[in-house]
Amino acid sequence: MPTTLKRDSLVSFANEHRSEFEALLRRFVETPTVSVDPNHLDDIRKGVELTVETLESFGGKAEVYRADKGNPVIHGVFGNDPKLPTVTVYNHVDVQPASKETEPWDTEPFVFTQKGDTYYGRGTTDDKGPALAALFGARAAIEADVPVNIRFLWESEEEIGSPNFEKIISKNAQSLKTESVVVSDTVWVSRNRPASSAGLRGLLGFILRLETATVDTHSGETGGASRNVVFHQFFLGGRDLAIKVERNSADDIIAFHTNSPSTTRIFCVARNRQFLAASSLVPSISPMLRKRKP
Ligand SMILES: [Zn+2]
Repeated sequence: MPTTLKRDSLVSFANEHRSEFEALLRRFVETPTVSVDPNHLDDIRKGVELTVETLESFGGKAEVYRADKGNPVIHGVFGNDPKLPTVTVYNHVDVQPASKETEPWDTEPFVFTQKGDTYYGRGTTDDKGPALAALFGARAAIEADVPVNIRFLWESEEEIGSPNFEKIISKNAQSLKTESVVVSDTVWVSRNRPASSAGLRGLLGFILRLETATVDTHSGETGGASRNVVFHQFFLGGRDLAIKVERNSADDIIAFHTNSPSTTRIFCVARNRQFLAASSLVPSISPMLRKRKP
């Protein structure tokens, strides 16, 4: 289906709506949605209200999804034609703390400040600015009759590791169903070169338990012959440590190994983010750990 959305029309759309974008970004930046600080819970609430109001003022239907605890995820729905593909744009509306007293800010972090064509204020870049840019982009697409259903998924706990995101997504999978997701919590390489990120580095927290024997042993009797756990842990902290994630049907296998061929490979077995570790130096314990239910 042809669309009137061309590069030139996008540029004039951006120019026409710039002051509207800036006014809205100001409201978001000046709502200090600091998710790590419980003193800002009321600001999170205000930020969620502002998000709903914004999505609705753009013509979307906004739904707020919550887990038992924590901050919600807001879903904005634009278009619901089953014949069209559906794309979901992910952003987050919470921010990191910021202080002019303890950090090198030239301006007040929670006051939206413009210097030339640059915006200053916590969240202008990460991730309120990109969230609103995507929303204005959706408006341009809708006005140009681009044949697509658009969804927005705006989280409010990203800066604290998204502790409830997975729960909320799983519980509401049917309503949040989509065909593709664009993560709009990324950067452009330069002002003149729009960038579309193909991958993001993630963080995976876990507790590592390294066992080198099947039973407790007495240092006075078997000390010299026993594998020394501290020694093996050095490999895990080594500078040439590489981490490889392999998958099979039952477990995610995270293989820690060093790049040096002379050093030991160490394997960890992970299930539901509970990690059991086994060193391949001690083959006898690997089968035991693999069988054990975490
Ligand atoms: Zn971010």
